[in-house]
This record gives sequence, C-alpha cells and structure tokens, in this order.
Amino acid sequence: MPAAKPPLPQPDVLTTSFWNACRRRVLEISVCGDCGHRFLPPGPCCPRCWSPRLASQESSGRGRVDSFAVYRRTYHPGMPAPYVVALVELDEGPRLISNIVGCAPEEVAIDRRVEVRFEAADGFSLPRFALGHGKESAKGGNS
Ligand SMILES: [Zn+2]
Repeated sequence: MPAAKPPLPQPDVLTTSFWNACRRRVLEISVCGDCGHRFLPPGPCCPRCWSPRLASQESSGRGRVDSFAVYRRTYHPGMPAPYVVALVELDEGPRLISNIVGCAPEEVAIDRRVEVRFEAADGFSLPRFALGHGKESAKGGNS
C-alpha cells in the first residue's frame, strides 16, 4: 500500500511565490518596503503598517522552538502519530507553524535550535524543521 500523502498546500496569488521558493529549497519571508517588518505568512500588506509595498527575502532557515505540542493521535493518514506541531520563530523574526522531524517527540523543547528541512510531497516541497545544535537562542540567552 503506498504511503498516504500529508495534507498539501493550496497556493493562491499571495502564497505561490513562497511555495515556489520552497521548491528551490529556500524559505522565503515577506519584508515591508516601508517599515522593514519581516513576516509570515505572506499577505496583501504589511501587518504592522499596512503598506502594500512588499518584497521578499531568503531566510537562513534557522530558528528556535517558540511553542509546540506532541500529537499522539492520528488525525490524517498522511500524518501518522506521534508527531510534533511547533511554532518556530526564525532568526529573522517571523514565526510559522510547522513540524519538528527527525527526532523523538521527547527531544523537542522550547528554545531548542531548529533548522529547516524540505520534504518532497506530490510536487510540493514542504518546510519542516529538524533539531539543530545547542539550546540557546541566537539572540543571546544565558551566555
Ligand atoms: Zn510595514
């Protein structure tokens, strides 16, 4: 039996550029041309100053776990439990909801460093995150 597909994106006029960048293994973030605010998900205007002058920028793909939950029940055949849903804060500032993959759910913790990893699925390239090294945030922390 072939493996079930995970839920897939449905790109629209605002998100097609993001998903095309993912196919190039680039995590693209939106940047306001007026106030410099960087954000996700892509939108029609800056969520801080409402400017429609937007550009995009390549993220480093690195960040930290801001919050997470371990799902121990399978809700979708393409996402067998257990799996981790996490709110990841990129080093550039934007936050996105994704999955932490490549480790046991018990290894995930708030403030763990993570790095993007693209997973191919039915013509898409889905941004997931894997644990990186160290627990401190790039912004400082205990050191
Ligand atoms: Zn702005």
